[in-house]
Amino acid sequence: MALDLTKYVASIPDYPEKGIVFRDISPLMADGEAYKQATAQIVQFARDKDVQMIVGPEARGFIVGCPVAYELGVGFAPARKKGKLPRETVKATYNLEYGISELYMHKDAVKPGQHVLVTDDLLATGGTIGATIDLVEQLGGIVVGCAFIIELDALKGHEKIRNYDVLTLMHY
Ligand code: IMP
Repeated sequence: MALDLTKYVASIPDYPEKGIVFRDISPLMADGEAYKQATAQIVQFARDKDVQMIVGPEARGFIVGCPVAYELGVGFAPARKKGKLPRETVKATYNLEYGISELYMHKDAVKPGQHVLVTDDLLATGGTIGATIDLVEQLGGIVVGCAFIIELDALKGHEKIRNYDVLTLMHY
C-alpha cells in the first residue's frame, strides 16, 4: 500500500532561524517502508533514462542517492564541501543568502558522456543543485534528471533547473 509520505516529514518552525520552517526528512529515513517507497519512486523515474551514475551533494543528497544507485546497479559520486576530497577536484561556487559556498567533485568521478541523475533531499533556491549540475557538466557528464524528496515552491529553485527533467515527491 502506498504510504502518504508527507506524514514522514517533520516541519520545524523558526529553525535554523526565526521565520524559517525547516522540513526534516529524518522520520522518512527512519521508517523502512517510507524510505523504500520514496526510493522506489525515484528508481522508477530513473529507469528509462539509462542512468549510469548518481551524484548527490553533501550530506542528504547521499541519503537519497545511494539507495537509488544500489537499486539501479550503478555507482554514486559525492559532491562535497571544501577540504573533504583527497584527490584532484573540480569546483563550483553558488550563492547563499549571505555570501557564497563551494562544492567539489573528484576530477575522475564522472566520465565524459556518462548519464547522471542528481539527487538531494530538498530543492529550495536551487543553488546547491545548480552547483552539483555544474560540477557534473564540467566533467563532461550529461544530467538526465534531478530528483528530490521535497521542493519549497515559493523559493523558485525549479526555475534554475527548468531545462532538466525533475522529479519531486512532495511540494510545500
Ligand atoms: P538551496 O541550495 O537553496 O536549493 O537549498 C537546498 C539545500 O539546503 C539542500 O542541500 C538541503 O539539504 C538544504 N536545505 C535547505 N532548506 C532545507 C530545509 O528546510 N530542510 C532540509 N534541508 C534544507
